[in-house]
Amino acid sequence: MPVIDLRSDTVTQPTEAMRQAMANAPVGDDVYGEDPTVNRLQEMAAALLGKEAALFVPSGTMGNLAAVLAHCGRGDEVILGDQSHTFLFEAGGISALGGVHSRQIPNQPDGSLDLDDIRRAVRPDDAHFPVTRLIALENTHNRCGGVVLTPDYMQSVAELARAHGLKVHLDGARLFNAAVALGVEPAALAAPVDSVTFCLSKGLCAPVGSVLCGSHDFIARAHRVRKQLGGGMRQAGVLAAAGIVALETMIPRLEEDHQRAKRLARGLSALPGLVLATGEPRTNMVFLRLEDGFSLPGAPGDPAPRIAKMLTERGIRVGDVGPRSFRLVTHYWIDDEAVDATIAAFQDILQTAVVRSSD
Ligand SMILES: *Cc1c(COP(=O)(O)O)cnc(C)c1O
Repeated sequence: MPVIDLRSDTVTQPTEAMRQAMANAPVGDDVYGEDPTVNRLQEMAAALLGKEAALFVPSGTMGNLAAVLAHCGRGDEVILGDQSHTFLFEAGGISALGGVHSRQIPNQPDGSLDLDDIRRAVRPDDAHFPVTRLIALENTHNRCGGVVLTPDYMQSVAELARAHGLKVHLDGARLFNAAVALGVEPAALAAPVDSVTFCLSKGLCAPVGSVLCGSHDFIARAHRVRKQLGGGMRQAGVLAAAGIVALETMIPRLEEDHQRAKRLARGLSALPGLVLATGEPRTNMVFLRLEDGFSLPGAPGDPAPRIAKMLTERGIRVGDVGPRSFRLVTHYWIDDEAVDATIAAFQDILQTAVVRSSD
């Protein structure tokens, strides 16, 4: 029985068409700029996002790091959300490797940063303070539930940034999920910002890689940073080839993942003891929480990891993202039967649970 893996869309394996394209890709030395397949992917990505240039990088983490280091010098400050991936999950790279100071402000439940919070966080010109250089946004916002920022909101942030001489970077690891959910062109989401990263290796199914996009000058600086980080890859066309297939064929179908996330959310939140933690899914993520009165008989221990383990025994993997919470992410390899099997397995396990009313 194949495992139903809902921990993340990063678990997606390349499709048959990707494997074919990888096997047949023309390649060259990309550190010399001579890999035709990498060059083609970069041109496609820049065109799709309406930017002058693009850079293929091994991961979203490196894309964000190269972007922050290309925008900021040592001791400069970036304003970002306290729930952002760059702040929480990138091993502190911007400060460890770039000497960039982070100023965290609260992410609102919709993934946005409050414009007044941003305004207050911008440093005045004073030798006591770091110099504010950059605002970083995330769309879709992972930790806030796969929620989407609208082009209008991003435009307001960009105007604020411009008024203070700041740049804006967008962590668009799942930018295409946001575009599909909003029914807008990816370029409309990239237009307000100076730089944007997106992942090929998540819902788009490519095995490896992200792309950073921006102006020619910006990409030239980021290219040097990528080299410093050890991210110059040689015959990387074998990877970029899968990325090209991803951009050509995988974007419109993300809507299916969003529909399945909604179905999963409806089915699971109807079970006793489980509630949606971040509302109805907007894209491909379902966050669930066990109600306060919930307990599971048997061995002690936090209930979410215990339930996750029981699911694993039934061939279903979900993320336990807290002692009482789960994250489930739909993707190309999750079909309707997998959704039904997941709901049924949760139902089976939760049958034995006790839910006291918490009034
Ligand atoms: C996955 C992710 C990244 C980093 O991508 P990796 O390729 O795993 O390094 C960055 N930002 C967000 C929001 C992500 O979900």
